[in-house]
Amino acid sequence: MKTDKNNTSNRLNCSVVNKCGGCQLQHYSYEKQLEEKQKQVNTLLDKFCKVEKIIGMENPYYYRNKVHAVFDTDKKGNVISGVYEAGTHRVVPIDSCLIEDQRADKIIVTIRGMLKSFKIRTYNEDTKVGLLRHVLIRTGHKSGEIMVVLVLASHIFPSKKNFIKALLKVHPEITTIVMNVNNKKTSMVLGEREQVLYGKGYIEDTLSNKIFRISPKSFYQVNSVQTEVLYSKAIEFASLKGDETIIDAYCGIGTISIIVSDYVKNVIGVELNREAVKDSITNAKRNKVKNAFFYNQDAGEFMKQIALEKQLVDVVFLDPPRSGSTEQFLNSMVTMKPNKVVYISCNPVTLERDLAYLVKRGYEVKKAVPVDMFPGTKHVETVVSISHKKNRHAYQCKCVVW
Ligand code: SAH
Repeated sequence: MKTDKNNTSNRLNCSVVNKCGGCQLQHYSYEKQLEEKQKQVNTLLDKFCKVEKIIGMENPYYYRNKVHAVFDTDKKGNVISGVYEAGTHRVVPIDSCLIEDQRADKIIVTIRGMLKSFKIRTYNEDTKVGLLRHVLIRTGHKSGEIMVVLVLASHIFPSKKNFIKALLKVHPEITTIVMNVNNKKTSMVLGEREQVLYGKGYIEDTLSNKIFRISPKSFYQVNSVQTEVLYSKAIEFASLKGDETIIDAYCGIGTISIIVSDYVKNVIGVELNREAVKDSITNAKRNKVKNAFFYNQDAGEFMKQIALEKQLVDVVFLDPPRSGSTEQFLNSMVTMKPNKVVYISCNPVTLERDLAYLVKRGYEVKKAVPVDMFPGTKHVETVVSISHKKNRHAYQCKCVVW
């Protein structure tokens, strides 16, 4: 990696930027990247409201707390590790990446160097010969804990104890090591079976003063610094008074629900992924949160049910996937008429579509702020504050008992 001396922002250059394809904007200075993202969000949203200045990172490098390397062997028989070349299954060798946690990258290089002496072969997807497929590393931004997940094609891992011992000798900072078995022809990195080889099998990290458990498969925002910024903006946009019942839709492992629980009467989280819901319940208990309740259901179905039951909800936070929300969800929400909606979006195109739907049905968009969660890439997150035109708080807000 070289520093670009002509650039005042001390830009670092990546040598595989074109082959890897993960960082579409890495060839721009960070200022220019932010400008591009701001322009994109402005173009889509300024018909609804004022778009505030994008919140960028002070240090836009090495932010990813989840790092994945695929292992292979090149034509000369050398072990390589890196990422798949965009749109292919060819591996681009990488030793260090500008957006990945540097501790994780160093561990991956060490593992690669150990394979020969331990006679561990990398897995070949065509011949199905070999053992090591991927290494996944997750790091705790505040806790400093590090989890290494070795993804193997078979559960038979010869000299596993010595391998672990040798790895820990070089990297005593590793707090847990998990073996994951993936023997399927699939683009999924992780398989079903897991065995903890060292430590507790998960890491914990702190986000906005709450502790979250992160297992190999847990969904967890990859940029911890900007996640705190994003969530605090979302909470600020909700203008909470303390007596509200809120819904946190598409809640993942319950991060927003648990963080916001201190500021409201009740939180109801809804999420489709069963494992994530289990994690959210564990996380609520871990943080002694007693006013958050989680449901494993499609968010649209859940909203429809709540609307039919005429439950009173004051604020809805929604953080849907890139495809945005659904008509069923939005339509039910319009029926429920919460005073405030805070929309967190990772795709301004679907956000524009969903806002247009709400604006035609009694809501107004107050403000929006883009947050750069993924420097180097083209992706941008946006938080939007939406209010109902007729404040329906003539109703007494009832506590919902589940
Ligand atoms: N709010 C969380 C997660 C956001 S990612 C956080 O900040 O960490 C979007 C989440 O929506 C994922 O967890 C995904 O599993 C969930 N999801 C996708 N489709 C869904 C649906 N139809 N109903 C409920 N949840 C859904």
